[in-house]
Amino acid sequence: MIFLKTEDEIELLRQSNLLVGRTLAEVAKLIRPGVTTVELDRVAEEFIRDNGAVPTFKGFPNPNGGSFPCTLCTSVNDQVVHGIPSERILQEGDIVSVDCGVLMNGFCGDSAYTFRVGEVSPEVEELLKKTKESLYLGIQQAVHGKRVGDIGYVIQESCESSGYGVVREFVGHGIGHEMHEDPQVPNYGRRGTGPLLKSGMCLAIEPMITMGGRQVYLENDGWSVRTRDGKCAAHFEHTVAVRQGKADILSSFEFIEEVLGDKAI
Ligand code: MG
Ligand code: MG
Repeated sequence: MIFLKTEDEIELLRQSNLLVGRTLAEVAKLIRPGVTTVELDRVAEEFIRDNGAVPTFKGFPNPNGGSFPCTLCTSVNDQVVHGIPSERILQEGDIVSVDCGVLMNGFCGDSAYTFRVGEVSPEVEELLKKTKESLYLGIQQAVHGKRVGDIGYVIQESCESSGYGVVREFVGHGIGHEMHEDPQVPNYGRRGTGPLLKSGMCLAIEPMITMGGRQVYLENDGWSVRTRDGKCAAHFEHTVAVRQGKADILSSFEFIEEVLGDKAI
């Protein structure tokens, strides 16, 4: 069941998503060689709670039992998504995808950004640029009257035509009172197929793009998803409201990119 949101509900979703953007900016301030991912998590959780919200990932149930232990997903290099923050020390040349979700005033925020740790290779930098670019191409399709498949089609087309892999096992989603609502929003698809997009639908669009093959596997921790060939993957995510003519981006990378300055992707 797809829930359409009222203008008031969309504004509450925007507030939650802006808090996610500001949380990711706090994380951005700390990312450098030598920092552990659990340190990023500690700062993010404190910031979210200080702002009167709760982290939605923490305690999120795993279909195979147990629940997610942290506030952030921190996925390093060949980890695609759902990496668990740990004592792992980030190294010069790593990339780290940081995904963050909050619940505030009954509405969820969900957004992700892939950061460079120091200098990365030109190939990896290109992967990040391409993934982010494909997110915005997808967002351009999130308008009243199009279909979910139009979003997936442009993301898949732009990434695969450049030789990148598009992960199939994990997808974007509707968002509202719940972090994951209908419809699913795959990063692949055919034009003119899938559920019809209507004004007031709120979607998290989140391409997960690999430098090599698109095959992934689940690590023994039951959460972290890794590329099978060990090549890097990137993940950028925005929450948007479908509108007539132009999507309304409810989350924001502006706070992050203010921190990163000319090191922004
Ligand atoms: Mg997310
Ligand atoms: Mg999401």
